[in-house]
Amino acid sequence: MKAIVYHRANEFSLEDTAIPECGDDQALIRVKSCGICKTDVHIHQGHFTSRFPLVPGHEFSGIVEKTGKRAGNLAAGDRVVADNASLCGDCYYCRRDKPLYCENFHSLGVNGPGGFADFVVVDANKVFRIPDDLDFDRASFTEPVACAVHGMDRIGAQCGDQALIFGAGPAGIILAQLLQLGGASDVLLAAPTLFKLKAAEELGIRETLQISRGDHAANEKLIRERYPKGFDIVIDATGAGAVAGQCFRFAKKGAKIIFYGVYNESETIAMNPYRIFADELTVIGSCAQTHCFPRALQYLTKNTVRVDTLISRHYRLEEYATALDTVISGKESLKVIINPGSCRYSK
Ligand SMILES: [Zn+2]
Ligand SMILES: [Zn+2]
Repeated sequence: MKAIVYHRANEFSLEDTAIPECGDDQALIRVKSCGICKTDVHIHQGHFTSRFPLVPGHEFSGIVEKTGKRAGNLAAGDRVVADNASLCGDCYYCRRDKPLYCENFHSLGVNGPGGFADFVVVDANKVFRIPDDLDFDRASFTEPVACAVHGMDRIGAQCGDQALIFGAGPAGIILAQLLQLGGASDVLLAAPTLFKLKAAEELGIRETLQISRGDHAANEKLIRERYPKGFDIVIDATGAGAVAGQCFRFAKKGAKIIFYGVYNESETIAMNPYRIFADELTVIGSCAQTHCFPRALQYLTKNTVRVDTLISRHYRLEEYATALDTVISGKESLKVIINPGSCRYSK
């Protein structure tokens, strides 16, 4: 089969590799769609906890090709998505029912073979069937929607909360939709790129604001005109430390500030501990997910979380370099999807 293989950071090639062995309690999936996200860019640049050699790709959907003897009721031909997170069940955190903090957290496409390949092998208990009317490209958003569901669990939004989100990439737009559905009375999505804000509006985000990339004073003035008291929830969904540092400016007393981007590990920001103390601010991180796929699929299946206008481009495996460049430049695209095999767009 064909697969994108990294042997070290910044170096990948399209290789002919053996189709992975399907164990007794596993399923072999023929990948139809696999989204590229900022995590893949970090993996490419060597900023993430990846182990090489690696086949990246963690947002995949496809068709079951083959199942092991103990793969439950999965069968060849099933249309599926798969949760890429795998947990040891036996470490300090797993034994305390905190699976996300698993000390042996294994993530297909991050530190195990993922979906930028013709086939991927997944534990059967991580595979979820999808309905016929959910196409593979939309289904490949189950992972990012699951991460946003986990984000909502972390945020704990209250009815009537006012929320500000910086960053109108797929992650920010999906989280904004969930916040609108999940009780916030106001969700302001702020970002510099107009076409991304337009895409968000098409998906039902009620309030967007174009801000400048570096002029924080001008941005603060614009946002304060609309919300003089600030917000109950302030989210950085850009992954840029400079933007994360601005979130505190817009916090009401008692607000929650959420860091929802993949930051460079070495980046630091200044915080004012007196302000956090006196205004009782809560700083929250939200990273990845476990066990959120079923809830994410509920939203995608009924189209209550919409992702259709987020899909900007499709590429084949052979075009991975161009696809990755499109994501890195980020200016003209939201979600870029790889469709392995010959079909450029797969239903
Ligand atoms: Zn991702
Ligand atoms: Zn564990």
